[in-house]
Order: sequence, then C-alpha cells, then structure tokens
Amino acid sequence: MTYEYLYGEIKSVLGDGARAYCQYLLDKNPEELLFDKREVPDDLLSKHAEYSERIRTGEPIQYVFGYAPFYDLYIDCAPGVLIPRFDTEVLAEEAIKTLPENAYFADLCCGTGCIAAAVLKHREDVFALCLDISDKALECTEKNLKKYGLEGRAETRKFDVFSSWDGLPPLDAILCNPPYVNAKNMMTLPENVKKEPSEALYGGEDGLDFYREIIKKSKNHFKDKTHIIFEIGYDEADALRKLTDGKCVIKKDLSNNDRVCIIRG
Ligand code: GLN
Repeated sequence: MTYEYLYGEIKSVLGDGARAYCQYLLDKNPEELLFDKREVPDDLLSKHAEYSERIRTGEPIQYVFGYAPFYDLYIDCAPGVLIPRFDTEVLAEEAIKTLPENAYFADLCCGTGCIAAAVLKHREDVFALCLDISDKALECTEKNLKKYGLEGRAETRKFDVFSSWDGLPPLDAILCNPPYVNAKNMMTLPENVKKEPSEALYGGEDGLDFYREIIKKSKNHFKDKTHIIFEIGYDEADALRKLTDGKCVIKKDLSNNDRVCIIRG
C-alpha cells in the first residue's frame, strides 16, 4: 500500500480526525501524503490497523499514542488520567510569567503533571509540590517530570483536597486545574471525553466544589500573600467573581473563552 492510498483510507475512516492522526502516526501533514507513491512498511501498516480501529471506536487519540502535546512538551498520558488540553496552556503561561523568584508552588489536582512540567521547564528558579488523589495521576506526573529532567525540583504527594491541609507546607502559589464540570454538563459530555476519568471532570452539582474548598482551605497556607491561578469552565467566571467577592482577574483562552481565574491577595 502506498502512503497516498493509506491517507485516503485514514480520511475515510477518521474524517476530521485524519490530520491529527497523520501527525501522530507518521509525523506528517496530509498534504505531504497526497502524492506519495512510496510503499508503507508492513510494521507501520499493522500499527495503523490497530490504532485506527481503537480511535474509530472512540478511544481518545492521546491514549492510543500515549502522549499529548502541551506547551512545548510532549506529555505522557494514559487511561485513568485527564488528557492535557491546549486551553490549559494559558494557566501555565500565566504562572511562568508571574510566579515570584524561587517560588514554591503547588500543582493541585496535577493529573499528568503537565502544568508543573511546563512551569518548571521554563522557570529554572521555582519548585513544585504536585498533588493528586489518584495514584495513576501521580505515576504519570512522575514519569513526565523525569522525562524532562525536572524531578529534582519537584515532589509528588497523594492528596485529597477535601481532607485536612495540616500536613501541607506553606506555599507561594497554588496552580490548579480542578474537576469543574457540573452535574448537568456531565450528562452531555462528548463521547471521547467520556473515556476520561469522571473523577477528573466532575466538580459537584454546580461544578464549583473544588473552588470553594480550595479558596477556603488555602487561606492559611500561603507564606506571604494569596496567589491562586485556577483553570475554570467557560461559563464559570461569574461564579468565581462571586466566590471571591469580585477580587479576581479572569483571562481568556485561545478560543476566546473565559478560562483562567487569578486570585491575588
Ligand atoms: N476542560 C475539560 C473538558 O473538556 C474539563 C477539565 C476539568 O474539569 N478540569 O471538559
């Protein structure tokens, strides 16, 4: 089979997903394959047969290939851990720009560790405490920190936001992309998002359980001043303004949706 023919097949099976798939499988754009008459090696064809079938039947492409691009990193991810989103890059960027010198920050609900990894990579002076309730997430975070040689400036710890915070050290900042999908929206998640762990998505009836808890519990956990950078749902800015008595700044993501909430005291 030629690459040109293979592309036709990919397009007919995966439709709009063909472009991303070509990049993952072949590291090429569709345009590069259209007139390519070379033969595809057999081992690639058998990989393709397996991967395209898994994706066709609803498995997220990032789980199939085992990584997702985030910021300028390739973050390992696996079933059971939330897949990094481009939207979250705004949070990482805000932290990279505004963390004080030598900051000790928590990446709360760290998941794959994508936020901590991007921040540590671009700020060689800062240190991270990566916290998550899920062992799979912590495993994934450790893998990603090692992948980029960042483990020397980071600690991972199992932690439940709703338990006591007594054992946590004083922090300069909290970065957090918590579960924030509300009960109503959980019912209409796209099929591929349903393949991700609901414990990483569901933020309680109104989606705000984690924000309420973290705003309350973090009060005594800053070394000096409050500095929280949250990711929020596109429709949650007003709720966050209320929760913080208007003392927050909202920033948008690349799709122009409200996405980040900054609380500084
Ligand atoms: N942005 C995610 C979504 O696509 C939600 C992630 C989260 O709850 N932190 O639904």
